[in-house]
Amino acid sequence: MGKIVIAIDGYSGCGKSSTARAVAKELGYTYLDSGAMYRAATLHFLNNFLSPTNPQDVEKALKTLEISFHPNPETGRQETFLNGLNIVDEIRSMRVSERVSEIATLKNVRHELVAQQQRLGKKKGVVMDGRDIGSVVFPGAELKVFMSADLDTRSVRRQQELLEKGELVELDEIKNNLAERDRIDSSRKESPLLKMPEAMEIDTSDLTFESQVAQIVYQARQIIEKEQSYAGNH
Ligand code: C5P
Repeated sequence: MGKIVIAIDGYSGCGKSSTARAVAKELGYTYLDSGAMYRAATLHFLNNFLSPTNPQDVEKALKTLEISFHPNPETGRQETFLNGLNIVDEIRSMRVSERVSEIATLKNVRHELVAQQQRLGKKKGVVMDGRDIGSVVFPGAELKVFMSADLDTRSVRRQQELLEKGELVELDEIKNNLAERDRIDSSRKESPLLKMPEAMEIDTSDLTFESQVAQIVYQARQIIEKEQSYAGNH
């Protein structure tokens, strides 16, 4: 069966990761979380007291940064490792969320991570979520999705997510963090967050999780079928 690439971009905290993971599961595809890679890079800077504004520190960070994904043997979910250590929970903390967009503006960091993402998606059959997947990482993706949701809805969802991981954070703090990350991500020079004209747009504010997943899976299957009938006729 012909496989495609699905690129899901959008604002912070609008459910891209969980949606992308569910879409991948439904289609039997691999889910790749590009945000986790920027978060892992951020943790690496923080843990080693490296400054993103010092070019030597950035070079050192990139030389010693090794990100990998391995499935959890119990859940089957891909988990992120930094230099061999499982950092799946640590990268979701506010400590990392507060600094990640700053690290993600660095040109050298983006070049390195984009190259890794492109290698991971080479075989197709992948769903990747992020900010520049449809524009820079996989500009040829057969299906591009742009997700959004209103800030209040996103903040409440993120607060719940953090609570489930045992971190209690004030709603205002979360709201400010999401808004600030959106601002930096949309206005940065290097591959800013933008909606590609061909992307299917989904506002998840009033959608159930199941229906947003179903919409993307439906669209993906239409494209896969079309590709197959084209391949059959040529
Ligand atoms: O997707 P997530 O919210 O975990 O991403 C964390 C941060 O990583 C974003 O706010 C953004 O600054 C950065 N990011 C990016 N490009 C991507 C994915 C994430 O700049 N493709």
